Amino acid sequence: MSSINNIHKRFALILIDPQNGFINDGYWSRMFPIGQSTPILETFHRIVLFLRSIPNPDLIPILISETGFSYRDREIFEPIINEISQRRFSSITHIYKPHTNLSICPGVHQWLQKQLESKLDIVIGGCTITSCIRDSSIQIQKMFPQLNLFVDENLCAARKDNYIPRCKKCLERYMIYGSPPIQDCTICLNKDLAKQTISPVQLAFQQMKDAGVNVIDNYSLTTNS
Ligand SMILES: [Zn+2]
Repeated sequence: MSSINNIHKRFALILIDPQNGFINDGYWSRMFPIGQSTPILETFHRIVLFLRSIPNPDLIPILISETGFSYRDREIFEPIINEISQRRFSSITHIYKPHTNLSICPGVHQWLQKQLESKLDIVIGGCTITSCIRDSSIQIQKMFPQLNLFVDENLCAARKDNYIPRCKKCLERYMIYGSPPIQDCTICLNKDLAKQTISPVQLAFQQMKDAGVNVIDNYSLTTNS
């Protein structure tokens, strides 16, 4: 099909906590073994590419949340903020988010209401899938059931361990204590039982889907006429 028949979609973008604290030697990142935050850094770079690919930046409202780090950790990942200013995205809303639930932060309800009135899809990216993205997307969907909410897997990340499938007991230990997978758990390692294991990331996506959130792979920027 010719691209001439494609119309650039208008949508609104939420970037959850794309901050230095989550990557490299940032405050949160340092709480875990080296390399655990790598998927988050990679995702921040994919967010840059996504922003670059948007053909109509002047029509795409962006909400960026920031969690309570200080100093350099608090700042938005520089390539993301550079891309936003260079491409002239014109509607940027910064929201301070002291907890995992974006939906109750001052200003968010009004922002979502506005996007709903403009009939815009909401696309969510950022970090982390198992915490703020899970909680915020589920609560937003509850608050606005009529909203078309898309969590884009390509634009979201969690720390490395949370992609590892584990058995029910190990998953419970993770949900209660945030425990890492047990290296020598015989149930987790048993390939015959692989179908019964699930990663914290898979569980989070499942919980979002159960709440009515669309979990997708790559949000399409065009719509066929
Ligand atoms: Zn296990």
